[in-house]
Amino acid sequence: HAKYLGGDGYQFYSDNLQTHGIERLQLENQLRKALDDAQLVVYYQPKQDLPGGALRSAEALVRWQHPQHGLLAPAAFIELAEETGMIVRLGEQVLQQACAQASQWYQNGQPMQIAVNLSVQQLRQRGFAEQVAAVLLATELPAHYLQLELTESMLLEQLDVVEQNIAALRALGVSLAIDDFGTGYSSLAYLKRFPIDTLKIDRTFIAGLQQGAQDAAIVRAIIVMGHSLGLQVVAEGVEDEAQRQLLRDYQCDQLQGYLIGRPMPANELTPHLARELPIDSL
Ligand code: C2E
Ligand code: MG
Ligand code: MG
Ligand code: MG
Repeated sequence: HAKYLGGDGYQFYSDNLQTHGIERLQLENQLRKALDDAQLVVYYQPKQDLPGGALRSAEALVRWQHPQHGLLAPAAFIELAEETGMIVRLGEQVLQQACAQASQWYQNGQPMQIAVNLSVQQLRQRGFAEQVAAVLLATELPAHYLQLELTESMLLEQLDVVEQNIAALRALGVSLAIDDFGTGYSSLAYLKRFPIDTLKIDRTFIAGLQQGAQDAAIVRAIIVMGHSLGLQVVAEGVEDEAQRQLLRDYQCDQLQGYLIGRPMPANELTPHLARELPIDSL
C-alpha cells in the first residue's frame, strides 16, 4: 500500500483576493508580473497504478508563489487568467516546467508520465501542436510521457483548428485524457471523433461511491464503457481506503487523490518513486 504523502498547505484567499473592482485590476497586474518573473510553480500529484500499486504518473497542478500572499491555489487566479487571455502564457510555462521535470525523472531512471491541464484557448491557437513538439524536443522527453488533459466542452468546439491540434498531438504520440469525465455534456459521440486514450472520472462520483447505489453504478458503467472502447480509466479524488477497495474491484486502472498523495513539489515526490527501466507501453 502506498503511504499517504505530505501536505500541500496552500491558502485559498476567498476574502482579500475577491476579484472585483480595483482589487481585480491589481491582481491582474500582479499575475502579468508573475508570468514575467517566473512566480508560477508546478506541483505534482501522484497517481497509483492498479492492481500493482506503482506510482508511474502524476498530474501537474499550477501554484502561484505570490510575493505577499504566499502560495496560491488555481481557484484564486485561473479564472482571471482565462478572462484576460493570460492562460495561454500560463499554460506554456506549466507545460515547459512539467516536461523538463518529467525528462529529469526519466533520465534518473524513475520515469513518470506527467498530465498537464489545457485551456481551450491553447487549443484554439494555430500551431499549438507544433509548440508542444518543440517543448518535447527541447526537454528531450519522449512524447508518451506527456499526457494532456482536455475537458468534454473543449471537444464540442466546432473549430477546425481545435480538431487539427488534437489530431496532431495524438500523431506526436502524446496521450490525451478527458478530465472531470461525467460532469459535462452527456453526448458520447466525441469519444469516436477524437483520439482520446484516457478517461478521468470526476471526483464528485468518487465522493458518492459509498453513499448509495447511484454513484457506484455510474462509476462502474464508466469503467466498463471505457475499457470496451480501449481506454484507460482514472479515478480522481480518492480519499479513503474503502473507495480504493471498490475501485480495485471495479478494475479501475489508476487512482488519484489525497489517499495516494497531495499535490507536492517535485523534490518531495522523488523519494517515493521506484527506480525502473522506462516502460514504453504506458
Ligand atoms: P483538476 O484538473 O480536476 O485537478 C484536480 C484537483 O483536485 C486539484 O485541485 C487537486 O488538488 C484536487 N484534488 C486532488 N485529489 C483530491 C482529493 O482527494 N480530494 C479533493 N477534494 N480534491 C482533490 P487544484 O490543484 O486546486 O486545481 C484545481 C483546478 O485548476 C484543476 O482541476 C484544473 O482544472 C485547474 N488547473 C490546475 N492547474 C492548471 C494548469 O496548469 N492549467 C489550467 N488550464 N488549469 C489548471
Ligand atoms: Mg486535471
Ligand atoms: Mg480533474
Ligand atoms: Mg476535477
